[in-house]
Amino acid sequence: MSRHGEQPGAEHARAQQAGVGQPDAEHAGAQQPGADQVGARPAGAEQAGAGRSGAGCGTGDAGAGLGTPPAIAVSGLRVRLGGVLIVDGVDLDVARGEWVTIIGPNGAGKSTALRAIGGLLPFDGSIALDGVPVSRLHRRERAKTVATVAQSPVVPPAMRVFDYVLLGRTPYVPPLGRESAADLFAVGEALAALDLVQFAERRLDTLSGGERQRVFLARALAQGARIVLLDEPTSALDIGHQQEVLELVDRLRAERGLTVVATMHDLSTAGEYADRMMLLAGGRVVAAGAPREVLTEAVLAEHYRVRVRVIEGDRGPLVVPVRS
Ligand code: ADP
Ligand code: MG
Repeated sequence: MSRHGEQPGAEHARAQQAGVGQPDAEHAGAQQPGADQVGARPAGAEQAGAGRSGAGCGTGDAGAGLGTPPAIAVSGLRVRLGGVLIVDGVDLDVARGEWVTIIGPNGAGKSTALRAIGGLLPFDGSIALDGVPVSRLHRRERAKTVATVAQSPVVPPAMRVFDYVLLGRTPYVPPLGRESAADLFAVGEALAALDLVQFAERRLDTLSGGERQRVFLARALAQGARIVLLDEPTSALDIGHQQEVLELVDRLRAERGLTVVATMHDLSTAGEYADRMMLLAGGRVVAAGAPREVLTEAVLAEHYRVRVRVIEGDRGPLVVPVRS
């Protein structure tokens, strides 16, 4: 890592260059040029409490009390893609420190809703992050507020882990400027938090799926945003690595007061980690609440057209598909 300390400008230029022209929109929120150094602040644990206390209540009444706005307030969200209404009237409040998981069949609009919440898509309705309408956040401010991890981020294969995570600091680097010691520190901290220090110099294309997923999270962490949106963070991983990544996210949430909205396909796992869940079908919210309110045999049969058995687990319902 000393190499990066010695030549920060070169590293940044390399990172910037590799990020240019990246095709997927999900990266847009993480790559804007930025200015100040707030991301190097210590863990934001002071805000974690509110969400946790409301966790699992199923009311959606997140962030209530003491005038604290919810981390995320979505009302009447509608998103059109290619002239088609993909998200059709979603309401969602997420308290600071809370974890909400969006589930739903393929094509339900989960990724689209997530991208809209991250400010990456035009929408109708209202989305406020920490009380500020997302449309009023300038790009770099938005990137300091919310980090979106796409389902399959497109990465330059030859890029090195350190440089990729450094892209998360782009909102803090002045235009035409170079990254500061605080930026390098934040990258080092993110790598350490995700147990990636030994991979810092490795090319991204040499990593396993689990390692790569940790790198995506490290970049989001380095970005210093307190709201993290994860689109199917575990779909490419075996069950051991799924659990490892989700435990890491949960630990970071507790330590740093992160607010997490994730999409996930594995329903049992989704229920174990989420305070609340939202089931989308056809772009609409068809069920919402605590995992045991959403993960019922009747609800899943109706919206996934599947027969399941729901078993009471230690940490909430476990969903087992059974042949009909
Ligand atoms: P999910 O993440 O729940 O699987 P998505 O949000 O990715 O669903 O997609 C929802 C629907 O939107 C899908 O039917 C998909 O084909 C459609 N869609 C996605 N992008 C576009 C686009 N650019 N133009 C038209 N339809 C799109
Ligand atoms: Mg999706």
